[in-house]
Amino acid sequence: MREFDVVVVGSLNLDLVARTTRLPAPGETVIGRSYAEFPGGKGLNQAVAAARAGAGVALVGAVGSDHAGDLLRDVAGDEGIDVSHLVTVADEPTGRAIISVDEDGENSIIVVPGANACVAPADIPAGHVVIAQLEIPVGTVTAAFRTARRRGAITVLNPAPADELTSELLSACDIVVPNEHEIELLGGTDRLLGHGVSQIVVTRGGAGVDVITRASSLHLDAFPVEPVDTTGAGDAFCGALASRLAEGDTLLAAVHFAAAAGALATTKEGAVPSQAHRADIEALAVTRPIAR
Ligand code: ADP
Repeated sequence: MREFDVVVVGSLNLDLVARTTRLPAPGETVIGRSYAEFPGGKGLNQAVAAARAGAGVALVGAVGSDHAGDLLRDVAGDEGIDVSHLVTVADEPTGRAIISVDEDGENSIIVVPGANACVAPADIPAGHVVIAQLEIPVGTVTAAFRTARRRGAITVLNPAPADELTSELLSACDIVVPNEHEIELLGGTDRLLGHGVSQIVVTRGGAGVDVITRASSLHLDAFPVEPVDTTGAGDAFCGALASRLAEGDTLLAAVHFAAAAGALATTKEGAVPSQAHRADIEALAVTRPIAR
């Protein structure tokens, strides 16, 4: 069986973005100013991030039998991501995020999981690192991590959106990577350590990253950049982290590289287009020594 560097088990969405002067009230219609579609979903974003960081990546997920599904499959394929475990389901639409943004940047968003709710645990390919998020059924993530663990893989959970995590899932996670809001909703680092998670990486946007184990806690500052759009920073971080762990980096070395990838993702708009390539991440990463 082929072994991938990184297997991403997660969501794919098409983001439909309408810009308008002001958001409509219930029952009201307003005329929009512009419209655009963007590939998204945390699974796809992190798969692209890991691939551009240099990993051989397989994406496990589900799309509908529609135009959006074809488009997202092509986006992944164009990045060199293996899509042979991306299933097409007949009865559900491809996941969509319907996003309205007013001129102050205020937004309202409806996420329709569609096919993402159908990602089943069957047939997870082998990988050095298996990473998942929570935009697909939690039972699927748990089953995928258990299989991965049996094969000796490293399991990484990005608990987004934050949800009540079962002890079954936590006990199958090697590394959990929440942002600063998610770690609060999950009850704090001590709770996760108590459930057997050995390493926690808390991302804090421009305030950097905390790396916490049972024995130690270390803070790394963010790389200084001029952010224009922070969308996708967390996904850039997670994808790059998985890619370097698969290469055998220590956790601190992988976090260092991932923080450079996260910083670069804030300097461009969008979630998929803003993901940086390996050479650019390395160029930023070497501007600072790796913490020990
Ligand atoms: P999320 O998108 O999940 O909220 P964060 O905002 O915490 O994730 O970003 C993930 C990582 O990306 C951060 O830990 C940091 O390393 C990097 N990053 C995010 N925002 C900035 C920023 N403004 N300046 C520099 N690095 C950033």
